[in-house]
Amino acid sequence: MADNKFVYFFGGNKTEGKNSMKDLLGGKGANLAEMANLGIPVPPGFTITAEVCVQYLKDKAYPAGLLKQIDAAIARLEEVSGKIFGNDGNPLLVSVRSGARVSMPGMMDTVLNLGMNDITVLVIAKNTDNPRFAYDSYRRFLTMFGDVVLGIEHEKFEHALSEKKRSLGVRQDTELDVNALKELVEEFKLIIEKETGEKFPQDAHKQLMMAINAVFESWNNQRAITYRKLNNIPADWGTAVNVQAMVYGNMGETSGTGVAFTRDPATGHKRFYGEYLINAQGEDVVAGIRTPRPISTLKEALPAAFKQLEEIYAKLENHFRDMQDIEFTIEQGKLYMLQTRNGKRTAAAAIKIAVDMVEEGLIDKKTALLRIDPNQIDKLLHPMIDPKANLKAAATGLPASPGAAVGKVVFTAEHAEEMAESGEKVILVRAETSPEDIGGMNAAEGILTVRGGMTSHAAVVARGMGKPCVAGCGDVVIDIKNRVFYAGYCMVNEGDYISIDGSTGHLIIGQVPLITPEVSGELKTVLQWADEVRTLGVRTNADTPNDAKVARDFGAEGIGLCRTEHMFFGENRIPVVREMIMADTEASRRCALAKLLPMQREDFVGIFRAMEGYPVTIRLLDPPLHEFLPNHEEAMEKLMELQKKGAPADEINKVKKVMERVEFLKEINPMLGFRGCRLGVVYPEIYEMQVQAIIEAACELSNDGMSIVPEIMIPLVSHVKELQIVKKQVIKIASDVMAEKGVKIDYKIGTMIELPRAALTADKIAREAEFFSFGTNDLTQTTFGFSRDDAGKFLPAYIEQSILEHDPFAVLDQSGVGELIKLGIDKGRSTRRDLKIGICGEHGGEPSSVIFGHKVGLNYVSCSPFRVPVARMAAAHAALQEEEMNKK
Ligand code: ADP
Ligand code: MG
Ligand code: MG
Repeated sequence: MADNKFVYFFGGNKTEGKNSMKDLLGGKGANLAEMANLGIPVPPGFTITAEVCVQYLKDKAYPAGLLKQIDAAIARLEEVSGKIFGNDGNPLLVSVRSGARVSMPGMMDTVLNLGMNDITVLVIAKNTDNPRFAYDSYRRFLTMFGDVVLGIEHEKFEHALSEKKRSLGVRQDTELDVNALKELVEEFKLIIEKETGEKFPQDAHKQLMMAINAVFESWNNQRAITYRKLNNIPADWGTAVNVQAMVYGNMGETSGTGVAFTRDPATGHKRFYGEYLINAQGEDVVAGIRTPRPISTLKEALPAAFKQLEEIYAKLENHFRDMQDIEFTIEQGKLYMLQTRNGKRTAAAAIKIAVDMVEEGLIDKKTALLRIDPNQIDKLLHPMIDPKANLKAAATGLPASPGAAVGKVVFTAEHAEEMAESGEKVILVRAETSPEDIGGMNAAEGILTVRGGMTSHAAVVARGMGKPCVAGCGDVVIDIKNRVFYAGYCMVNEGDYISIDGSTGHLIIGQVPLITPEVSGELKTVLQWADEVRTLGVRTNADTPNDAKVARDFGAEGIGLCRTEHMFFGENRIPVVREMIMADTEASRRCALAKLLPMQREDFVGIFRAMEGYPVTIRLLDPPLHEFLPNHEEAMEKLMELQKKGAPADEINKVKKVMERVEFLKEINPMLGFRGCRLGVVYPEIYEMQVQAIIEAACELSNDGMSIVPEIMIPLVSHVKELQIVKKQVIKIASDVMAEKGVKIDYKIGTMIELPRAALTADKIAREAEFFSFGTNDLTQTTFGFSRDDAGKFLPAYIEQSILEHDPFAVLDQSGVGELIKLGIDKGRSTRRDLKIGICGEHGGEPSSVIFGHKVGLNYVSCSPFRVPVARMAAAHAALQEEEMNKK
């Protein structure tokens, strides 16, 4: 801490921070300073830096000089506000607010009205001539201080409050009169004393230091840790603390508080969007206690404040050049801004806003592209309810986060996590959600809440996660004791299926059919922009003509991996495939293969057609043959059944033979076994048939005038000689077929690089291969020595203990597997300069891996059809990032 400045003042006419200081001041503090700089009304205050938090958590002590700086800042705050902190004729109350570098909604708790005590409450009651307001503020402070700072269960205060309302026969907090509030204050103080064994601290300065410490410590509470994990936020950032003069939204009918977005965060439409409550404070709006009113009605309720709000939000959008999420409070008609930040939005909104802002001239195309998280695109292509299904909703709530979800009803977050763990799809149904529910929300397919508005916790978090959410579905009544809920006349049990549509707010009982949306409108536009800037090709992994067609529509520029074994599993094929495997002699094997040939050829005709003009990489048979046979137990059962029936001997013998074959082909370690080109070496006739089918299909279409670009890929090569042998067969068959058909096909022969030895000897292999495709699934498996099928048993512990940051089968391990890829590329291109190289593992559609692929000089990535748009956007990001780097 070189400069030893720990505290930054904002407001009055001397603001020390600015928007670019987020790392130090946190997002909230930096933007409060920026708003003050822009001349927007912000209650004055000061920010204690995140560095202090880091040091405090490490040493359990403040850096030297901090207390002095806090005292100086308070003195300044007193001067600017004209009030005095502590017991005085005009007491200053403050809020203590956390604020990390990026917003962590609901993760850190805010304490309002700090400075309240038995004396200040009297003074404030007198000064404002509004004792109800004073005691309302006091009881709120006691609750927040008790909960956030002293760690007393919120429920304890909530319970006392409900009891009070019940005994007086009122429903809303606002209906409690001053006497009731006074009684509550006394009860709350008793709760605090009982729970902590100490009296509630009356001294404002002591309250402040306790609250500051609590904010620092909240950085390490479970909710915050979970949120950081889910969002890849480093644990060592720490949070800043903002201490800010209070303004009061609870001073009566001309006061209020609200939250709003400058554009619709669900759809991206350009309309002011938000909610507010009259005579309310702080988080009343988002807590779902009272149902807030839509912001448009503020125009009539408090016209002057509304007009000012409209001016401010326009100013903020122009300044930040992005959609803003704002928090404000109106104190007796006067507007104050309490927060602004770039608003979270759904994938659909992100895209619409980016395109609109380009059209409005606020941002350029490149900025627009960089604002779209490639992972978000995936969510847009997620299923929605088939509009043709014409379903009747059992209840309708708010369309809080779009997309449709189907799952079994669960009522608690823990249950959601358990069920999801065991592979069930669930919908979390709650009265309302709170930050403790975050794990369960993440595990659920979708979320349904009974209470709360569009800015309720459930809505905000669900949008952030891209989960469908229907919020505030007031027609649903949960009977948690009996584990059921009612919606209209329907009774729904825990474990029953429901469907929700977060785009319409509909709740439908049962499972509904979902469809996949297409790429159109703004999405199409941004993907075109992405194509303009990216240099990395994007292909797809597709095994059927239908997959190929879907992928073309999503913008795939060819097939990077067509797995032929999938074609062998077809219902009418598996008997023929088994016949081929059971064959004792080459001749009988060839006989079975001859039956497979026309079927394979048909497959390739379909795929080539769908991909006309684009390269199609076809991998010759890869898996071990026993995958096509029944397993031993199955065969055993069949045998016993036949014997019991007294079946004829030849039938029994047949099954016995199958069992022998199964026994013979059984492998201890099939993934490292008799598969890939090893099959081609031992049974050349299998690959011969496949090559014949490929080239015949190509000839057929070529005769129809189509341009066909087959790339024949030999799997699991570890030694160049394997490739030499198989390649020779391929060339022979291909030449024979072309000669017979009198057609010339411009085909290529290449290999997968999926074994470390292949990467290490890539220079030699490239002499034989015209292209490489990194099979990163197997390469990850063989580099780590982790079996993909068994790694699930220990990988979670590896991630838990930070041995690995991510599952290496999902996110490419750049420092290990990535090094082999780099080596393979360098060596490969050292002997064949124009070697075409791609990757075709799971990683081809994972943004960070795609960006890596761009950096190391791949020609293309190949991924599943639905990931193609994600990869296009990630590839654009990669190109733009490189451009930025080159500028520096
Ligand atoms: P979060 O990070 O959870 O949004 P905030 O620090 O923004 O927490 O505080 C939550 C709410 O508390 C704000 O939206 C605002 O309504 C209220 N609040 C915070 N500080 C003040 C203040 N100085 N005066 C009035 N209300 C405040
Ligand atoms: Mg909060
Ligand atoms: Mg806030």
